[in-house]
Amino acid sequence: MINRLFFTATIVLYACHVYAYDAQDKIVAKQGSMPVILTVPHDGGEALGWISARTQGAVVRDTGTQELAERTVDALEKKTGNRPYLVIAKFSRKFLDANRSEEEAMESVEALPAYRAYHDQIARFVAEISARFPDGALLIDVHGQSDDPGTIFRGTRGGLTVKTLLKKYGKEVLQGEYSITGVLQGKGYQVFPPVEASGLKEDRRFSGGYTVFTYGSQMSHGIDAIQLEFGKWARSKSGLAEDLADSILVFSQKYIPAFAK
Ligand SMILES: [Zn+2]
Repeated sequence: MINRLFFTATIVLYACHVYAYDAQDKIVAKQGSMPVILTVPHDGGEALGWISARTQGAVVRDTGTQELAERTVDALEKKTGNRPYLVIAKFSRKFLDANRSEEEAMESVEALPAYRAYHDQIARFVAEISARFPDGALLIDVHGQSDDPGTIFRGTRGGLTVKTLLKKYGKEVLQGEYSITGVLQGKGYQVFPPVEASGLKEDRRFSGGYTVFTYGSQMSHGIDAIQLEFGKWARSKSGLAEDLADSILVFSQKYIPAFAK
């Protein structure tokens, strides 16, 4: 009898474990048609079954970054007829931090299916983009920060995650007039590092997290990857998505051969 009860309890637990939430339902994934992918890890608000909030690490939401990415995709489609690929985490950072390694991202194994759904999707899109556009592609990991509300920070681990671009074009590709942050600076945003900085040194708080490191071009199957941390004030500007779309367009026309054709 006790054995039977135990068996039933195990089955019930297992059922809860598997069906507590649908992992695919916790991400947004949209196919693109140009060699750019936008990822948004920190603007989700949804729970993951019954798991409790993490007790360590940052849990703050990057408010407005999901809308920013979606509007940027729409603006680029309007300008070019093509859409970047898009992957958005719908789950809250309180339960799972998608921009961390698997060990650091969660405190409950229940969060694992959502983590894997998010990263497997990015990996699939990166593989697809690499095959489709072998001459170059860019991943932008979209974040928000409030530590320095007036500034947009670039994070590439000091150029590491854009190894291919740097090798091809040198420093200007990352910090020149036609770079992503260079175009934004030209439009009046405060960016760091600015165009006039002599080296590629980035602010250590925002120098590039797990996603750009994992899918960056220093990895054998990676593509060039840049993390952008939009300050609170920049995120409150209604024209930001349009400006980001312009910066991606200017950059792509100059530095992504498939795009210029
Ligand atoms: Zn973030």
